[in-house]
Amino acid sequence: MSGISIQFFGAALRVTGSCSLVQCAGKQILVDCGLLQGGGEEDRELNREDFPFEPSAIDAVVLTHGHLDHSGRLPRLVEAGFDGPVFAHPATGELAVIVWRDSARLSAKYDGGPLYDETAVERTTELLRPLRYRQALHLGDLQIRLFDAGHILGSSSVLLETNGKRLLFSGDLGTPNTPILRDPNTDWDVDRLDAVVIESTYGNRLHKSRAETVEEFKEIVLRSVAHKGMVLIPSFAIGRTQEMLFHFNDMAQADQLPRVPVLLDSPMAEKVTEVYRSHRECYDDETWEKIKHGDLPMRFDGLRELVTSAESKTVKQMAPPAVVIAGSGMCTGGRILHHLKDFAGRDSTTVVFVGWQGHGTLGRAMIDGAERIRIHGQDVDVHARIETLGGFSAHADRDTLIAWTRALPGGEKHFLVNHGEEEAARGLAAELRKEGHKAQAVEPEQLFEF
Ligand SMILES: [Zn+2]
Repeated sequence: MSGISIQFFGAALRVTGSCSLVQCAGKQILVDCGLLQGGGEEDRELNREDFPFEPSAIDAVVLTHGHLDHSGRLPRLVEAGFDGPVFAHPATGELAVIVWRDSARLSAKYDGGPLYDETAVERTTELLRPLRYRQALHLGDLQIRLFDAGHILGSSSVLLETNGKRLLFSGDLGTPNTPILRDPNTDWDVDRLDAVVIESTYGNRLHKSRAETVEEFKEIVLRSVAHKGMVLIPSFAIGRTQEMLFHFNDMAQADQLPRVPVLLDSPMAEKVTEVYRSHRECYDDETWEKIKHGDLPMRFDGLRELVTSAESKTVKQMAPPAVVIAGSGMCTGGRILHHLKDFAGRDSTTVVFVGWQGHGTLGRAMIDGAERIRIHGQDVDVHARIETLGGFSAHADRDTLIAWTRALPGGEKHFLVNHGEEEAARGLAAELRKEGHKAQAVEPEQLFEF
């Protein structure tokens, strides 16, 4: 076979578990090796199953980004016999290591023991090989390059080229105007593509404007602070927390937050924020402008990082107003729980949800109006004001995805739509067909050849 074949072992007609096997130029390359998430017990079982291919036969892995659903099963692949190189943007590598350690620790709490242990994480870390954006990597006749996908720090689209054939993986694509990050790449230096694997998380939906969302967010915070309330922000550790810090920095710069402490209370988010602070080469022009004027975008007077759990427990004694950013983003665990236990009963408190809340989570119950919640075996009557902001998505919506495809080189292409629930994936495929392309939502384990 002189072309390229691709088979989807995850994120087909669903969002999580990205894992695609590419065979070309005599090599077997795995693009992403992610964990299934959100499906409870059933997914936890599937994550422990053997891989449907021979791990030791894989020549290399390429990671599009550090999120758990793209990188989280890699230490398992290593335990199962893979010992080749793992190519990833340097920021992706650093974020993935944080994610793996967290995953090893969290999975130890479930029946069946940890999904993998620290030793597997260490061995996987040693296999990481940094690959910068646009840097050409050659494996025999195969060339691999990464391009900025604007989703989280280090996130990449992956271009594979061999024998005149080109296959592009979009990776998770961000939304334009996300703070700190550049917009997804539209500057391509090839003249055509044979096939494109494109994500479709929001393939059939449109987002509210980010600028409006940011304004709404600032208004909510300022109103709560003016009423001397506690502001609790359940936040995901990667991406969303750093964006929140960016907006609080803007407010601090504009003297809108006089003497109000902003407490970052998540050890994982603190580690991730350090990675964000150290990879300035990934920043967009707006962020660089701030730095040139002496303003560091994720540091400001009033920001305090609570490292130990003893520090976290002092929040209970604090006199509001104060802002607490804590994990987990859906209130399924983490330090946000004891803050909710202490403050959700007060009518001066505001809980601001800045991310999507999965079904069955405490966060979802709260945005659905639960009057009483149970935390650590204790009932809490909810008197806090609950605010939900849906416009902070890290994923491109339908129109942004289509705009990204229009900027790709060449004419008609074959789009393989993955990383979306069935309706979203089929919806985006239909839109792409209207654009004159061949497009289909990929099925689990489906094989394509070009
Ligand atoms: Zn992602």
